[in-house]
Amino acid sequence: MNTCFFCGHKPLDDICTIEQPIYRLKHYAHLGVVRKFEYEKQLIPIPRCRDCAAVHLKAKKSRRYCIIIGASVGFVFGLAVPGGFIFTVIIGGFVGIPVATVQAKKRYNKLQIKGSNSATIAEYPLINDKLKEGWKTKKP
Ligand SMILES: [Zn+2]
Repeated sequence: MNTCFFCGHKPLDDICTIEQPIYRLKHYAHLGVVRKFEYEKQLIPIPRCRDCAAVHLKAKKSRRYCIIIGASVGFVFGLAVPGGFIFTVIIGGFVGIPVATVQAKKRYNKLQIKGSNSATIAEYPLINDKLKEGWKTKKP
């Protein structure tokens, strides 16, 4: 497969290809009070072009920016609440995440490319097959 998975038409760029690790529990031992897990790990390359990589990086940056803005707004509101600003900063930061997600989705739709979230990555055929075999994209 030599085309980008995310836009489906541009040629992949080796540097921009995502190396997605997948894990599977290999061995589990219960030694008295100690539980020992051993994982098997594989790296699955997901072909990506330079343009999609740039859009994904931009989305990542704007997500961080939205969290900072949200936390700052939370801080300002929190000043009115005695001792409460830590909570408003955290809430503000969390509000920033869905705002950034919506913005990223709009951009992806406009450009007709897939996002780089774990749900999309799970759609990649090679990964999808592995998930069916019991592999996980995160360490269980
Ligand atoms: Zn692409």
